[in-house]
Amino acid sequence: MSPVIPIQADAGCNSAPVLRERGQREVFCGLTGIIWLHRKMQDAFFLVVGSRTCAHLIQSAAGVMIFAEPRFATAILDERDLAGLADAQEELDRVVQRLLERRPDIRLLFLVGSCPSEVIKLDLSRAAGRLNQRFSPRVRVLNYSGSGIETTFTQGEDACLAALVPELPAAPARAVAELLVVGTLADVVEDQFRRLFEAMGLRRVTFFPSRSSTALPAVGPSTRLLLAQPFLGDTAKALEARGARRVPAPFPLGAEGSAAWLLAAALAMGVDATAAEKAIAPARQRAMQALAPHRATLAGKQVFFFPDSQLEIPLARFLARELGMRLTEVGTPYLHRQHLAEELALLPAGTALSEGQDVERQLDRCRAAQPDLVVCGLGLANPLEAEGLTTKWAIELVFTPIQGFEQAGDLAGLFTRPLRRRQLLAA
Ligand code: SF4
Repeated sequence: MSPVIPIQADAGCNSAPVLRERGQREVFCGLTGIIWLHRKMQDAFFLVVGSRTCAHLIQSAAGVMIFAEPRFATAILDERDLAGLADAQEELDRVVQRLLERRPDIRLLFLVGSCPSEVIKLDLSRAAGRLNQRFSPRVRVLNYSGSGIETTFTQGEDACLAALVPELPAAPARAVAELLVVGTLADVVEDQFRRLFEAMGLRRVTFFPSRSSTALPAVGPSTRLLLAQPFLGDTAKALEARGARRVPAPFPLGAEGSAAWLLAAALAMGVDATAAEKAIAPARQRAMQALAPHRATLAGKQVFFFPDSQLEIPLARFLARELGMRLTEVGTPYLHRQHLAEELALLPAGTALSEGQDVERQLDRCRAAQPDLVVCGLGLANPLEAEGLTTKWAIELVFTPIQGFEQAGDLAGLFTRPLRRRQLLAA
C-alpha cells in the first residue's frame, strides 16, 4: 500500500451517486456524546439544561459507567420554566452556584442545550457569558447544543469541541509545523499513537480534546490538524479559521486505515516516508495477523449499514478491503465529502451510498437484501433480530476503543461476534 492515497475524481466512490433521504430518523441525540467526553476531559463537568427525558437518556446511556461522582448532571426544566412562568436564567445561576460550591474540582463547565431548552429559546450563550464573569478564572463556562432536533449523536462531540476552540491558546509563529490530532480517543489509544508518532520521528504532537482543561493545545498557522474522527466538521472549520491546515487522510480504523493515517501525518510533517513506514511496520504486522482469523469468518458476507454514528463509511471501507465483506448499503446521517474523500476513494466502486434517513423505506431495502449482518441503532436492532436478521449496535462502535493497530482485531471481533452468536443459536 502506498503511504499517501492519491485521490482521483472518479476513484472508488468519490463521484458515486448518493441516495439522499429526509424522512423519519431513528438516532440518538447529541447528549450521548457526554458519555465519552466526560471520561476524556477529566476536570470538565457537563450540565444538561433539559427535561426528565434528557436526564433519563443520560442516566441510561451512562448506566454501568457511573462510578463515584459523575461529571455530568441535568438541570431539569419543569413546567413553570417551560410555560415561561419562572426565570429560567436565574434558576440556572442558582444551580451552577450550588454545583461549583460542592465540586471545587471542576475547572471547565459546559452548559449543554437540549430540545426543551431550544424550544423555550433559553439563551445558554448569555448564561455562559454571565457565569464566566462570575466564576472565571477558577472555572470556565462554555455552552453548546446536544439537542436531537436535526442532529445525530456524534454531533454532540463536534459541537462541544467547536465551542472549546476559541479557548485554545494561540500557537507562536514557527517555521516548524506541529501536529494536532483532533477527536476523542480512549487514553490507551492516544498513548499508543503518541508512541508511534515518536517512533516515526514526530516530536511536536498534541491531542484535542486534552485530558486536562488547563493544558489545552495551542493552534495557529503552523498547526497541521489530523482528524481522528469523521464527524468533526464544525470543529475542523473553527480550527481552520484559526490558521490550522487539515491533513487529508483516511481514518485510523484497521491495519490499512491506521497505516495510511499515520503516514499521511508523517508526510505532512516532513518525515522521511521510508523511515516512517519502518517505524510502524511491527505494529502493522501485528494488526494484520490479528485480522486474519476474522477474515475467515467475514469474507463474502453481506453487511448493511443504517445511518447512525457517521463512522459508517470508514467502517465499510475497513470491512470491505481488510475483511472481504460485501457492502449492501452504506447509510450515513451526513456525508462530509471533503473529510471523507480518502475513504470514499477506497470504497469498492458501485457501493450503494445513502445519506440521511427515511427509516421505513430503508427497512424495506434491508429486508429485501437480507444481509448477513446489519449495523444499526438500538431501536432497530431488536425488531430486526426478531425477523431473523443478525445485528450489531452502532453505538458500541463509538463507546469501544477501535482506532489504531492494536485495536484492529478487537474491531473486527465486534462484527464476527454477532454472527457467531447467531450460528450458536441456530445450532
Ligand atoms: Fe430527547 Fe431532545 Fe433531550 Fe435528546 S435533547 S433526550 S432528543 S428531549
